[in-house]
Amino acid sequence: MGAITTGLNVQAIREDFPILKTLVHNKPLVYFDNAASTQKPKIVLDTEYHYYSSQYANIHRGVHYLSQIGTELYEKTRHIVKDFIGANSEREIIFTKGTTNSINLLAYSWSSAFLKPGDEILITGMEHHSNIVPWQLACQRHGATLKVVPLQEDGSINIDEVKNMISEKTRLFSFTYVSNALGTINPVKEMTAIAHQAGAHVLIDAAQAIQHIAINVQELNCDFLAFSGHKIYGPTGTGILYGKEALLDAMPPFEGGGDMIKDVKFEQTSFNELPFKFEAGTPNIAGTIALGTAIEYVEKIGLDNIFAYEEELLKYGTEQLQQINGLTIYGNSIHKSSVLSFLLDGAHPYDVGVILDHLGIAIRTGHHCTQPIMDYFCIPGTCRASIAFYNTKEEIDLLVTGIQRASKMLL
Ligand code: PMP
Repeated sequence: MGAITTGLNVQAIREDFPILKTLVHNKPLVYFDNAASTQKPKIVLDTEYHYYSSQYANIHRGVHYLSQIGTELYEKTRHIVKDFIGANSEREIIFTKGTTNSINLLAYSWSSAFLKPGDEILITGMEHHSNIVPWQLACQRHGATLKVVPLQEDGSINIDEVKNMISEKTRLFSFTYVSNALGTINPVKEMTAIAHQAGAHVLIDAAQAIQHIAINVQELNCDFLAFSGHKIYGPTGTGILYGKEALLDAMPPFEGGGDMIKDVKFEQTSFNELPFKFEAGTPNIAGTIALGTAIEYVEKIGLDNIFAYEEELLKYGTEQLQQINGLTIYGNSIHKSSVLSFLLDGAHPYDVGVILDHLGIAIRTGHHCTQPIMDYFCIPGTCRASIAFYNTKEEIDLLVTGIQRASKMLL
């Protein structure tokens, strides 16, 4: 087994994640369910603890000391996110509960402002359900049509097909940066440019990209981008919607309540300025503050280093899995990130998952909230091992041994 040649000190990084010392069924945990959610470094846990134990109060509009500290810390995360994704201003950073919530916000609010009967929304055949269903609902509400760029056998889409399917009727092209089920990395900059040429807006679902690939929204020139805190080593219930200021300004509020208003009268209410117009009610304050810590942690390691390391691990894992008899890998695009989706001939993915679990190896089985992908391949689901920068080649070897064992037991 060759040593990893990229510059991460993975053993030191692993020390930052207390959960990696857990025993599962008396075996050391091998955590390969990172596409579902990533584990949290101690510094993120400490941030939440510290906030609740010595800084906690509700934020915004409080004159007292603790409220002001909380507000500063919360708004600091907005600044961190703005710099992290290269946005123009903090007004373009909306705090949400996660990617799903960000997309639903848009599907409600953007559609109210921009979607008319007869219009079209374009998505791709590899979208997560959370980038399908909100648009189906929006199309039903507004008399619009949802169109889908078809998937290809290797798990990619054909860019010529995108050009064919976009028309002057397309109001929005919404697509994932990285497929959670197949690992495909889409050519998002090119897809954005094609959509803009046709006059459509662009939403990038970055739920599976933000933790693996350095992103600059101004360079991509996307109109909107969504991601979840829990996939980038931060807390659940936190997330981001980035939007170009002029577009966010043109959109009505999503939820009504405290914080999103300027002036409330029974007859009429005026709304707060961006980003608060879209942030009704008391948010996940501690989680959002800790999301800032998580992003700083990732930045310290460096996304380019992370990408290079994970790419090497993915290549190694792919080579090893390909040597297992009767194993098929789903998702073979040349541009791929961190996901090994596979099936063993004649074995149900669930059974493989249970056997691996007894060996302490956590993978995910099923449709991964991408049923249309499974329908395309005519399969019920896959086994998915997904990689983070704390994983190692030794863990890949344990996975391979585990799959071989499952194969012997099941076939
Ligand atoms: N899009 C993609 C590509 C995803 O992988 C996920 C999470 N699996 C989501 C959207 C939804 O994210 P969340 O559940 O955090 O809202």
